Amino acid sequence: MEAPSNEVFRDSIATIDEEGKRNWIFPKKPSGPLYEKRKLVSYFLLAFLFVSPFIKINGNQFLMFNVLERRFNIFGFPFWPQDFHLFVISMIIGVVFITLFTVGFGRIFCGWVCPQTIFMEMVFRRIEYWIDGDRNKQMKLARQKWDAEKIRKRVTKWFIFLVISFLISNIFLAYLIGSDKLLRYIKEGPSEHMGTLIPLIIFTGVFYFVFAWFREQVCIIACPYGRLQGVLLDTKSIVVAYDHKRGEGENGRKKFKKNEDRQALGHGDCIDCFQCVHVCPTGIDIRNGTQLECVNCTACIDECDSIMEKINLPKGLIRYASEENIEKKTPFKLTARMKGYIAVLVILIGVLLGMLALRNDVEARVLRLPGQLYEHKENNIISNVFTYKLVNKTSETIEDVSFKLRGINGTIKLVSATGEVTVDAQGLAEGTMFIEMKQSDIGGDKKKIRIDVYSGERLIETTTVSFLGPRSFN
Ligand code: SF4
Ligand code: SF4
Repeated sequence: MEAPSNEVFRDSIATIDEEGKRNWIFPKKPSGPLYEKRKLVSYFLLAFLFVSPFIKINGNQFLMFNVLERRFNIFGFPFWPQDFHLFVISMIIGVVFITLFTVGFGRIFCGWVCPQTIFMEMVFRRIEYWIDGDRNKQMKLARQKWDAEKIRKRVTKWFIFLVISFLISNIFLAYLIGSDKLLRYIKEGPSEHMGTLIPLIIFTGVFYFVFAWFREQVCIIACPYGRLQGVLLDTKSIVVAYDHKRGEGENGRKKFKKNEDRQALGHGDCIDCFQCVHVCPTGIDIRNGTQLECVNCTACIDECDSIMEKINLPKGLIRYASEENIEKKTPFKLTARMKGYIAVLVILIGVLLGMLALRNDVEARVLRLPGQLYEHKENNIISNVFTYKLVNKTSETIEDVSFKLRGINGTIKLVSATGEVTVDAQGLAEGTMFIEMKQSDIGGDKKKIRIDVYSGERLIETTTVSFLGPRSFN
């Protein structure tokens, strides 16, 4: 989107000064209808984040991303390494969805949903307002020498930040290793689980560093999604935008003077009060145009609306709008690029649903024992040895497992002391089996055979293997 004034501001970022030092941002406490709505959304999302690892569906954790054991649960569905293709497709769908959303609605995700913004603006920043006060008080406190008041406020704030960072780390861990394991570790005591305690302390340190010090730099410098904006946005994307046509008028913005006819003087509606700049958590001036630093938090919309209300001008000088909407007053419509993304998204979702429908609760893999071909036995019987692996993706134990050959004569002998196979819930069973067939039934040196896996009388999975026999020279 074009900036109404010159573009010099794009050469630097508000949070770093000319010498490369940090410019600490003291944003004004936001207020207004959009902020209230964002608060409600953040309460819901925070509750979701903190509760989901403890919700179980059919015994499965609602959301779990156990990278170490390669076990993932999404909405209560367990995904195994064997389901990795489903996981990859889900991730691609997520990326296409966010891309589509960004092309249409800019960084709306950052302002309303991103955990970084939610924690920073709705948790840590609000604690800061509570302890240090609003912008002016915070600036004064920063300049103040280290007296009793400053020490008390700083120590209280840092301690609370540390406790919350520790809490977030625990939740993070509940997603990683599972909430049951986490609760067990807590009960058994940290000294028993040093291998988990150390990462927990590291996570706490990282969260503390991010929310107490690094802050908006995550969105401006570190976040790859933020960096993508430049390629994804176009003049039709809806973003938090300043209506420069209305704000600047013919003769530019001007401070407000009572009883002055601004319209007659050709001045725009912007009274250059800088409230939209003071409230911005990334320290930018949205009147310069769309910038990478803008996380679409809407704080400037609320702030400017309240100013417009006070001076009796229509709200919406800063609002959700596209550049085309501001320039030509054209309403939002789907572009060819967005239609393309929607088509790709629909196809991918279709593929995922199809794969989910075809996905088995049990996965059987039978493989030839490495280095083994076949063995000749009495009465022209040929024997092949295989290993089997059964993965139970359900939360119930599968008992009385047996293997049967389909449509051919032959026998399967399991190498097992009891002859019984059981697969624990979310577990796997492995073993060895011999398959024996008459040489005349093989009909060549290789035969594809189908093996059915039963639990009692119920067919639970089917798999195929190649059975080898001696080469026939007839
Ligand atoms: S808050 Fe509104 S009126 Fe004040 S400087 Fe920003 S855009 Fe102009
Ligand atoms: S410019 Fe407005 S919407 Fe963008 S980050 Fe600043 S306050 Fe939030």
